Amino acid sequence: MEYQAKELFAKHDVPVTLGIVATTPDEAKVAAEQLGVVVVKAQVKAGGRGKAGGVKLAKTPDEAFEHASNILGMDIKGLTVNRVLIAPAASIVEEYYFSFLLDRANRSYLCIASVEGGVEIEEVAKTNPDAVRQTPIDAGTGVDEAKAREIVADAGFPEVLTEQAVQTVLALWKVFVEEDATLVEVNPLARLEGDILEALDGKVSLDENAEFRHEDHAAFEDKAAADPLEAKAKAKGLNYVKLDGAVGIIGNGAGLVMSTLEVVAYAGEAHGGVKPANFLDIGGGASAQVMADGLDVILGDEQVRSVFVNVFGGITSCDAVANGIVGGLDLLGDTASKPLVVRLDGNNVEEGRRILNDRNHPLVTLVDTMAGAADRPPALANIEGA
Ligand code: GDP
Ligand code: MN
Repeated sequence: MEYQAKELFAKHDVPVTLGIVATTPDEAKVAAEQLGVVVVKAQVKAGGRGKAGGVKLAKTPDEAFEHASNILGMDIKGLTVNRVLIAPAASIVEEYYFSFLLDRANRSYLCIASVEGGVEIEEVAKTNPDAVRQTPIDAGTGVDEAKAREIVADAGFPEVLTEQAVQTVLALWKVFVEEDATLVEVNPLARLEGDILEALDGKVSLDENAEFRHEDHAAFEDKAAADPLEAKAKAKGLNYVKLDGAVGIIGNGAGLVMSTLEVVAYAGEAHGGVKPANFLDIGGGASAQVMADGLDVILGDEQVRSVFVNVFGGITSCDAVANGIVGGLDLLGDTASKPLVVRLDGNNVEEGRRILNDRNHPLVTLVDTMAGAADRPPALANIEGA
């Protein structure tokens, strides 16, 4: 959220004014009494808050109260506003856009800068792409002062702001590198009256793979906005992403799960457009507990009408997975109520199939091949839904 991004900015000497976070209109009023003329700003992890009516100028504490009452509880792009930032109002002369991001396609970093920033930046990018300057950043050398000067000159910042802009670019690069970010965006980076450059908004995406070196990043997670199923899966250490379809998917290995999503979506086209309900990679250790946890999360999804378990036995052999499925279903008992299509292959597959056949669980259908199996869950989902 903006207020958190601004905290990171302040830590690395990006010019910024922090303001006060409020969760009630009364708190907003008290904050405005301290700060004078303020802007009341919705705090949600989405852009375009201004256009959605989530950014309002308040000249008096009563107005701050009024705006906070309207903005708190507001829905912006599917996210509920639970807090507002009360920021001292700035006198803006010009608005610029600036960002560093991970450029996956080019396997490097990218700087995007424009002196035509503000809420219409997407429009500028379409109608006047030349005004949006892109500078590739070599991951090995990064941004030193010379590079920062090149970026500032190329973007066309006004001369009077050059030194401030160079220092700000270097500070933002520090945020990007030292916080292990994949995106650091400032829009607007504003020229204020008196030719002062200041970050009036901020958006930072942090790389979760680097969490282990940033204890403080855990505090940035928005637990209230997290999908409850995803939160449950995370608590159990599962690699789960909720999707919109009706077929629950469990597999081992991200690649296999991704291909499973694709074959199910493809097969689902013949059944009225049935789609996968989730991504779930149970990884190498498919113990009964992991399988039960996975099934528990997936069966807790009201949209799920059938489940496809697609496992290729490797280090964890098929018999261990089969025991996991049987054990998992036993652990869940009556809460397991939707049909499961299971495809096992690989290490010790005969034993795995024998275990499932012997158990003969009423919900489980065993299928030999991935292609043969892929059609079944969408078909079942369709019957269930009909
Ligand atoms: P976004 O719409 O989610 O990007 O939210 P921003 O924080 O960027 O605010 C949107 C717009 O509101 C900015 O582009 C500014 O034009 C305006 N704005 C934000 N803060 C201030 C402020 O302190 N003073 C003034 N005058 N305008 C502001
Ligand atoms: Mn903005």
